[in-house]
Amino acid sequence: MHRLVVSMKLVIFGPPSAGKGTQAQKLSKQYGIPQVATGDLLRKAVADKTPLGLKIKSYLDQGKLGPDEVIVQLIKERVAKPDCKNGFLLDGFPRTMGQAKELERMTDIDLVLSIVVDFESLVERAVGRRTCPKCSAVYHIKFNPPMNEGICEKCGSKLIQRDDDKEETVRNRLKVYQEQTAPLVEYYRKKGKLVDIDGSGGIDAVFAQMVKAISHLKK
Ligand code: AMP
Repeated sequence: MHRLVVSMKLVIFGPPSAGKGTQAQKLSKQYGIPQVATGDLLRKAVADKTPLGLKIKSYLDQGKLGPDEVIVQLIKERVAKPDCKNGFLLDGFPRTMGQAKELERMTDIDLVLSIVVDFESLVERAVGRRTCPKCSAVYHIKFNPPMNEGICEKCGSKLIQRDDDKEETVRNRLKVYQEQTAPLVEYYRKKGKLVDIDGSGGIDAVFAQMVKAISHLKK
């Protein structure tokens, strides 16, 4: 018996609250590759009050994109860690054309999974979302409630609503996505590296489409 070791470098795209984080956690578990989520890395830097965190906090609070050079440096350091040697899943990066070009200089991406959902249902999703500040598990008060209201099932911490999940911020982030990140979808599509994933179904239905797309890649 031998285990096939495949290096897989994936990117997951989708407007804010499209279920990116949830799917990324499932993919990471299924394929044994780390989820590299710029949003999580940045929020941790803010919470830890590192120099980077202090620099980036106001961008996060307003739902604005941080400067490319700061984000690119963060990603470079993260993917150089040993746990990324058999691949990784980028969640929340690249988000601008500048970042996409930098990524290209860094490495070759195998596949971009692009979640497609209409914007109004996204606002509903975001506003009901609750996150565990300790282990990053994600719930929704209506679609995926934890067993005990307001408490993380995995680690027992009190769940929070992220500042950037407040309605006004969400609408602003959707606008930013439309303007800056949506063009990347077409960029990767032209390269033949992108698969559209219908994100309107339940968590498992969306995940099944992703697994299918990845299985084509491995053949
Ligand atoms: P997320 O959790 O991925 O939605 O990211 C939350 C916030 O972090 C965003 O609204 C941005 O302020 C910042 N951020 C995350 N990823 C990036 C990126 N690739 N480029 C610039 N800013 C980012």
